Amino acid sequence: MRKIKDLGEFGLLRELGLFGQKLPEGWIGPGDDCAIAPKSGGNLAITTDLLIEDIHFRLSTTGPRDLGWKAAAVNLSDLASMGARPLALTVGAALPKNLPFEWAEEFYKGLRECADRFDCVLAGGDTSSAEKICLSVTALGDMEGRRPLLRSGARENDDLWLSGEPGESAAGLLLLEKGLSGGKALEKCLRRHLCPEPRVELGLLLAERRLANSAIDVSDGVLADAGHISERSGLKVLVEAGKIPMSRELCACAAKSGADPFELALGGGEDYELLFTAPPKNREAILEIGKGLGLGVAMVGKVEKGSGVSLLGEDGREMEPKRSGWSHF
Ligand SMILES: [Mg+2]
Repeated sequence: MRKIKDLGEFGLLRELGLFGQKLPEGWIGPGDDCAIAPKSGGNLAITTDLLIEDIHFRLSTTGPRDLGWKAAAVNLSDLASMGARPLALTVGAALPKNLPFEWAEEFYKGLRECADRFDCVLAGGDTSSAEKICLSVTALGDMEGRRPLLRSGARENDDLWLSGEPGESAAGLLLLEKGLSGGKALEKCLRRHLCPEPRVELGLLLAERRLANSAIDVSDGVLADAGHISERSGLKVLVEAGKIPMSRELCACAAKSGADPFELALGGGEDYELLFTAPPKNREAILEIGKGLGLGVAMVGKVEKGSGVSLLGEDGREMEPKRSGWSHF
């Protein structure tokens, strides 16, 4: 008997026939950060994420308010990667019967704070009971006439860009798991893990001004998500290790927890930054947008003919990454 764990996440979806299905005209189906549903006056972007107790979070280390924020933020991050404006959230919550009411109250408070921050309506949902906390958030976004940024849109000779500083979230998670705390650097990494900031404005501007050919939000890790662009675009993605922005805070946390900061930055995941490709002629415009938003954007590689992801060391030679990202099964 085949088990789900033998198939892996993508194998499971493939076996269920979710990839390559015939969709009505104008639809974009599974395989991107959001599905796109055509409608008059601007298409809709749709995405769903699950948060399961003891798989995605632990009650002992995650407060309900932060979790509510994160549940909304990870979905808004998927909208951001397509260039969609957040419109509405619906929330399915299965909660243990003896969970204190205050937990649920705080969870919805955090959820609403994030939704409000991005002018998104908390539009409905469903509740039920379960042995453990299971949360499913669906987000709807409005493309408002913009062409969606897809994983499959990369072109040969594109630059590879990354917003923000990856690895801090993974460093924060390590600190949580090891029970380490204290200091400003550690606090910053913890916040990045618990309350990620979706790059909604960046995604909107990149799509609005048609600056990027492809995009994905970094949830699995920079290398793994570069792999998704590579696979869907049928091209090789080169990541230059020396160009990955590494914050002081990441390095401090890595030192404290005995981890390799490069591995956290490249393979840690849950960064919720945007990884995107764009033609070299757009370099200045992209840097200008980053400056306007007060958000770092860095060129971290390029797109070439071929397949797969290569990591280039500072000497220009290919390196073997030790850890390539997160697998859900
Ligand atoms: Mg995503």
